[in-house]
Amino acid sequence: MRELPALPGRGSPPTRPRVSIDRTGPRWVFHGRRVLLARAWLADGGGHRTDPRPRELPLSGRDDSIDMLVPMGSAASVDAPRPAVPHDVAHSILDTDAPPPPDGFEWVDLRVAASAMSDALFRRAGWAWQFLEWRRTHRYCGVCGSPTTHRSEALGCDDCDHLSFPRLSPAVIVLVHDGDRALLGRGRHLPEGMYSTLAGFVEPGESLEQAVHREIREEADIEVGDLRYYSSQPWPFPHSLMVGFFARYAGGNARPADGELDDVAWFTRDDLPRIPGRVSIARSLIDTWAGGELP
Ligand SMILES: [Zn+2]
Repeated sequence: MRELPALPGRGSPPTRPRVSIDRTGPRWVFHGRRVLLARAWLADGGGHRTDPRPRELPLSGRDDSIDMLVPMGSAASVDAPRPAVPHDVAHSILDTDAPPPPDGFEWVDLRVAASAMSDALFRRAGWAWQFLEWRRTHRYCGVCGSPTTHRSEALGCDDCDHLSFPRLSPAVIVLVHDGDRALLGRGRHLPEGMYSTLAGFVEPGESLEQAVHREIREEADIEVGDLRYYSSQPWPFPHSLMVGFFARYAGGNARPADGELDDVAWFTRDDLPRIPGRVSIARSLIDTWAGGELP
């Protein structure tokens, strides 16, 4: 199904500044969670001065894609002040099989590509993917089943007026510390030997702080206190907003309690295991603790 490119700003308040839209710039092209990137850029380990995206749409003429302009919002302001490139052109190929990549390009899992991207580029890639994924999974109204159409920042149903907005799932991510040691866990999805901070989605009716206490209790069977907010990070797999905390150990014997983790263990600064890459807030929490700079 081909959808007309959405024109951002339609129906928005008149006070909103007009923006220029660059339709000729680099394009995000996705198939599932994979993104089309220049092979030379990948071979260079993600040379941060070049843009790895195709400028032409090499797969044009397809009738099985969602094409849209993704409003970058604050993601754009990181490296492109208004009104330079406030929108990214993005495409999602819906076909089950990925088309062969054009010369000089490769399909790369976005989670893998993230480690080679600058923070700014990853933020744009993640938002473009998340936006397309929202469009892909909300093509029909969840109430009456009619096709949806794009209305400003929502997808709306012309039959029953139901609106769907891009989905966000807040999650807490916590480094539990106790003097010279920190508690890390081994999730099943992590690469061999890797440990990370504990994390979990916030449940309906819960505050962020309550989610921290519950998650740590469920996953590691310990109590924590002295919660300190650290920072947050949009994490597009699939649509999380990671909210980072430090928490002080307050009692209990740490063990993998609910089966979600294979192992939990205390580590000192000098004896850290393999930990996540620098693009993640988990790494940032660990690095900050290891540097002795708790907020
Ligand atoms: Zn409807």
